[in-house]
Amino acid sequence: MDMTASPVISRVASLLVVDDSAVQREHTVSLCRALGVQLIYEARSGQEALDLFAMLVLRPDLLIVDLEMPGMDGIELIQKLHQRGIMVPLIVASGRETALIQSVEALASSLGLPVLGGLQKPLCMPDVLRAFDRLGHVAEAARSGSVHFDPETVIDAERLSRAIADGEITVHYQPKVDMRTGIVRGVEALARWHQAEGIVVRPDRFVALAEREGLIHELTLAVMAQALAQAAEWNARGLRLSMAINLSPHLLDRPSLVEEILALVTRHDLSPEQIVLEITETSVVGYLGAALGVLARLRLKGFGLSIDDYGTGFSSMQQLARIPFTELKVDRSFVHGAHQRSNLRVILRSALDMARQLNLVTVAEGIELIGDWRLLQEFGCSIGQGYLIARPMPASQFPVWLKRHQSVLHDLRFVADEPGP
Ligand code: C2E
Ligand code: CA
Ligand code: CA
Repeated sequence: MDMTASPVISRVASLLVVDDSAVQREHTVSLCRALGVQLIYEARSGQEALDLFAMLVLRPDLLIVDLEMPGMDGIELIQKLHQRGIMVPLIVASGRETALIQSVEALASSLGLPVLGGLQKPLCMPDVLRAFDRLGHVAEAARSGSVHFDPETVIDAERLSRAIADGEITVHYQPKVDMRTGIVRGVEALARWHQAEGIVVRPDRFVALAEREGLIHELTLAVMAQALAQAAEWNARGLRLSMAINLSPHLLDRPSLVEEILALVTRHDLSPEQIVLEITETSVVGYLGAALGVLARLRLKGFGLSIDDYGTGFSSMQQLARIPFTELKVDRSFVHGAHQRSNLRVILRSALDMARQLNLVTVAEGIELIGDWRLLQEFGCSIGQGYLIARPMPASQFPVWLKRHQSVLHDLRFVADEPGP
């Protein structure tokens, strides 16, 4: 069979194999060569791989990384790549148990590194081919994003501070839809930093900086002001959507926060009931004190409160029940691929059950696959959010999306299992 003619193969032009075992490396290299990959780099350790990335002008299309390596192991390598903003697609290869490989896959995904597959070693051709095939989807997804994300730009507190003052921080909106009908119920406001020439910096890179440098208050108010003005504009056009805004835990010991948010809501003639404040789970367990007072007062005024990234912290039902939350958002790492993975399904189902017992609205984020959408429908999740429905977009694109969305509602609708004949 002439494999080089396949369109799947031509997609991967170059890759890097990281494995400390010479035998395994040779096996992987010859397999990839047989699949038509032209340029194959090799590294014997995580450190060697990082050194290569620092040196190469043209980065390889993807990385095949072994987990167990002396010195820097595969997991550390993935974390280091993330820290350096090297968002290269990955294939995780290991001889270890599937559950371990899957948890590393989940880790990489949660860091934003596209994972093409978690494969058992020694690698075999069909598995590798399938993973290569996914590269097309990843590339397509990156292309279809309307903006170019630049991981290289150096950012510092002074630049960020100026950016906030100069209005370079804008807001994109991602729809949150009813999982029974597909109808849009609200949007989540996500900060974007528009630099020159269409370069957009992701919040992962500047929110933490803002928190460290005491700029998170200005940043949050800038996002909130835009988001609330947008909600008011949509209201005026008859499109009443709930507006979710991310609230940093660093703001929760600020007693004036409640009044500041209320002032903005009043200025735009909105009611607090239309606003949901998302707070990450990890930030609310452990230290509460003053935060609990602020959260309770926000709830008292009528704001919705959402537990964000649920599952990434270690909160117990008792801890969560103490905070007046109205919504629980299951983290993307338990949603993505759940229809194919029993361990994720167990966590997903128990999180949704717990939320229902606490009378919370259930939200699943990071839905990319129709299989996961169907599974969540079966589990009775109320609201869904993810690339399957829409990527975050500027408000100007929203009407066009909404129109197009009407035509897919039929396919998204919940169809309960027909009783057998
Ligand atoms: P988050 O609150 O968990 O927001 C969801 C993130 O997941 C967004 O990334 C969104 O673009 C991404 N996402 C949505 N659907 C999918 C999907 O189907 N697949 C994948 N792979 N990703 C999906 P984004 O916009 O880069 O934001 C990253 C994080 O930055 C947010 O995570 C949030 O914690 C933080 N953030 C964003 N805006 C603000 C803000 O105004 N204030 C604060 N404090 N944090 C913010
Ligand atoms: Ca959020
Ligand atoms: Ca989240």
